[in-house]
Amino acid sequence: MAGEPQDDCLFCKIVAKHVPATIVRETETTVAFRDINPQAPTHVLVIPKAHYKDAATLAAAEPALAADILREAQTVADEDKLESYRVVFNTGAGAGQTVFHAHAHVLGGRGLQWPPG
Ligand code: C5P
Repeated sequence: MAGEPQDDCLFCKIVAKHVPATIVRETETTVAFRDINPQAPTHVLVIPKAHYKDAATLAAAEPALAADILREAQTVADEDKLESYRVVFNTGAGAGQTVFHAHAHVLGGRGLQWPPG
């Protein structure tokens, strides 16, 4: 069924607390944790508790949950006192997606270049 936890999904295991992560926020529908390989002073991943393979699939199935992710990104930025920040949804292997459970990267705390690499 859409959104059900997947046994072979690392982020579903983080949601279930079967794999450790530095969780900074948790809501009824989302978890936010520090990226294990940070690319900026603040690098937090915001994920839905439900399993969707990428952000587009999530938004199509549960638009309110996609909005929850964006609201949580702002709250993470507020809590880390970021004046500006970037939200990235890598979508597809060619764009650098390595974990196929939807996630927003929230990056900030340093100058960010545009265009990204
Ligand atoms: O967009 P992408 O799929 O590449 O992002 C996955 C992210 O998950 C990476 O930035 C990686 O460092 C992070 N990660 C993590 N904790 C893990 C495994 C991966 O924060 N246990």
